[in-house]
Amino acid sequence: MKDDLVHRETPSPNFGERKLPISMAVLHYTEMADADAALQRMCDPQTQVSAHYLITQKGEIIRLVPEEKRAWHAGASYWRGQKDVNSASVGIELDHPGHALGYRAFAPAQIEALVPLLARIVKQYDIPRANIVGHSDVAPGRKIDPGELFPWDRLAQYGLAIPRPKITLGDPFDNDGAFYLALERFGYDITDGRKAVEAFQRRWRPECIDGQIDGQIRAIVFQLLLDRDRGSAR
Ligand SMILES: [Zn+2]
Repeated sequence: MKDDLVHRETPSPNFGERKLPISMAVLHYTEMADADAALQRMCDPQTQVSAHYLITQKGEIIRLVPEEKRAWHAGASYWRGQKDVNSASVGIELDHPGHALGYRAFAPAQIEALVPLLARIVKQYDIPRANIVGHSDVAPGRKIDPGELFPWDRLAQYGLAIPRPKITLGDPFDNDGAFYLALERFGYDITDGRKAVEAFQRRWRPECIDGQIDGQIRAIVFQLLLDRDRGSAR
């Protein structure tokens, strides 16, 4: 499909057929030295990895896999009961050194390019904001990208992510079991509890990622569920 937002195509052989309609978008960083290295990796049939799009730090959008095909970006994943995240999602990689090669803020031009692309995808497939997630949200045991410096608040300004909730109620749970239930209900795989807590913190309270359940994160997850049930945060 023609898309005026796409600057160029670098087709990857790494894709298959979707088994589900598109209902999610998953955001990643490449954790590679540069965009060319990331493209090379995602076009190498040996690696078995790809994404639909790569966005360079200068804001160039490169399409690797057509959206109607199943790209291989999420790996073993889970979100809101769905294990085949690749079949249900559009995957967008951001050229970035990641935590391994020097973690830093995302380039403004890159985020400026992401916003209209994501807006078009969300509109086309009617993707709920609660299903616009980071790789760490869908694979908390294995992944930490795009990480605590990803500007979710900026996406939220455009209605492309749920904003960090304003806490209006006190700590609603008195035990960790209730917190994990709430976390699972929101969407997370809680198989590894500590990793799930870290992933939740990375997305919703990035200033302190310690894997510990505390009153503030209990209040945040409760508010998120409440907002979603009221329909104010689909
Ligand atoms: Zn990733």
